[in-house]
Amino acid sequence: MSENKGLYIHIPFCVRKCPYCDFYSISDLSLKKDFIAALASEIQLRSDLRNRFDTIYFGGGTPSLIDPDDIEKILDLINKFFTITSDPEITIEINPGTVDQEYFSNIKSIGINRINLGIQSFQENKLKFLKRIHTAEKAEKTIDRAIKAAFKNIGLDLIYGLPGENMQTWIEDINAALDFFPSHLSCYMLTYEPGTKMYNDRKKGVITPLNEDVTADLFMATSRYLTESHGFSHYEISNFASSKTRKAIHTTKSIHNQKYWSGVPYLGLGPSAHSFDTKTRSWNLKDVKKYIEQLKIGKLPVLGKEILNCQQTTVEMVMLGLRTSHGVNFKKFKDLTGENFISYFKSITGDLELKAMGIMDKEHFHLTLKGMLFLDSITALFAGKIFKGEF
Ligand code: SF4
Repeated sequence: MSENKGLYIHIPFCVRKCPYCDFYSISDLSLKKDFIAALASEIQLRSDLRNRFDTIYFGGGTPSLIDPDDIEKILDLINKFFTITSDPEITIEINPGTVDQEYFSNIKSIGINRINLGIQSFQENKLKFLKRIHTAEKAEKTIDRAIKAAFKNIGLDLIYGLPGENMQTWIEDINAALDFFPSHLSCYMLTYEPGTKMYNDRKKGVITPLNEDVTADLFMATSRYLTESHGFSHYEISNFASSKTRKAIHTTKSIHNQKYWSGVPYLGLGPSAHSFDTKTRSWNLKDVKKYIEQLKIGKLPVLGKEILNCQQTTVEMVMLGLRTSHGVNFKKFKDLTGENFISYFKSITGDLELKAMGIMDKEHFHLTLKGMLFLDSITALFAGKIFKGEF
């Protein structure tokens, strides 16, 4: 029997755009109704009962802007037109400031069992800099509501590395999060993505980014603090799973996100969503209006498609593997390329081991914390070698 896939649904609405965010979303909420109708059509057009999913992930955007009745309608259609395993992980991303207590009770009653809250910080000055729509008090209240609704699998997102940040302010944020005993923490380093307002502000000199050495220290300290003092597993560069949880339902790692990092196929629905079937990558239109128009005339809203050759697939596998604590699996590499990972990359991995940036065990090669700091340049070394190769 083939592996269970992941289903991603992109909800393309936000109350307003955060200046650092490069995910696709619009703030014209009047299109919500037409969007839900279009999403329902996309599900029917892509209907395939051979597609078996054990994870469903409502991401965005701000999925919590969608009425629970509409989420239920979408889940019913997914159950009708695809095969869903008996105990799926169903996650929804929630933005504090968009939901009340009733909302949590409602989404629980329709089967959502994992909550991911975009907290980002518990400090007003940081929330203001990030132009979040919520205050620290609202963020805390929202977590309390999720706990009160008896959600056990609760993940919190935090951002660090803001201009002027230091170890003390960052550890204060982590401690504030830990006070709620989350089952999962995502700690994202602030990045300046091309096309965002913050990227332009940085270019114009309006923002002076935090010194790289300080950012690196914050990354290392986060990992050590959460793993050594609080029993978390640092399983992906930005992600931590708790082992001391409020009786987590499955594992506390995100089953859905692990599919992305280990090359498991996934189907993406909604504007800008990507899909991957191990050989082909495709992506939907990044425009809600066009997405709705296409589906109104019965057409799939696909913008592009790429058939990956063996080298591209291998680069992806190595790049995604290096993000995780497991690293790259030698057997998978051999199955894909016919090559022996250890001898093929001997000079690169040997050099990384000497610099204490990588570790080789019997089955995997993975990066150390120090190595993860240089993930992009290390990935480029592996990619360069793969693209010069013959497989
Ligand atoms: S709420 Fe989330 S998805 Fe929306 S703009 Fe802000 S960071 Fe991006």
